[in-house]
Amino acid sequence: MRPGLEALPGRWAGGAALALGLALLVRGWRRRRPAPRREVLFFPSPATCPAALLGEPGPAPCPCPCPCPLPHGDSPLARLLRRLLSARRSLELCLFAFSSPPLGRAVQLLHRRGVRVRLVTDSGSMGLTGSQIGRLRQAGIQVRHDQESGYMHHKFAIVDKKMLITGSLNWTTQAIQSNRENVLIVEDAEYVEPFLAEFERMWEEYNPANYTFFPNKKEQK
Ligand SMILES: [Zn+2]
Repeated sequence: MRPGLEALPGRWAGGAALALGLALLVRGWRRRRPAPRREVLFFPSPATCPAALLGEPGPAPCPCPCPCPLPHGDSPLARLLRRLLSARRSLELCLFAFSSPPLGRAVQLLHRRGVRVRLVTDSGSMGLTGSQIGRLRQAGIQVRHDQESGYMHHKFAIVDKKMLITGSLNWTTQAIQSNRENVLIVEDAEYVEPFLAEFERMWEEYNPANYTFFPNKKEQK
């Protein structure tokens, strides 16, 4: 018998026990860790009351029958709001058009909670009637815009640098309530990282220090 072989059964048993222990540890860890979120939302969404989600004062202690005429159940808009309101540290927004009042109130609420909100938008759409951009800026939220002749046409958000929300949806009441739109929500670093890199690229490029104030095609009426 070659030296050392008699010790192998013991080693195997030890190795097997170690492997089993590790497997159980990983299983336990996987169980405790919430599964990464993946969700698809389709619009149009019925208008639902956002008051409870936004912590807005209702007439009675909640859960309360809110007297407003809107339905109070679940909806794609309510789900989108819930995802956004899960932000604890940061929110990057890259939106061609932003005029939805409940989404505007959600972003302001996050800002008041101390979440670092940064918003990139399109220079041509930010002045449209009902745009939330002025309100958000007044609330102290940092907004930067493109100065190109092409549109800044993205529609994505990144929550806490780990959740990507993207799709065809402009954050407008028209798109939310009337258009067929899709929104994909994923917690996956492989997707979040390139979107975050694209955001940071635009954030630097649209730094007001770099604005040239030359008229571009979009501003020529
Ligand atoms: Zn209500």
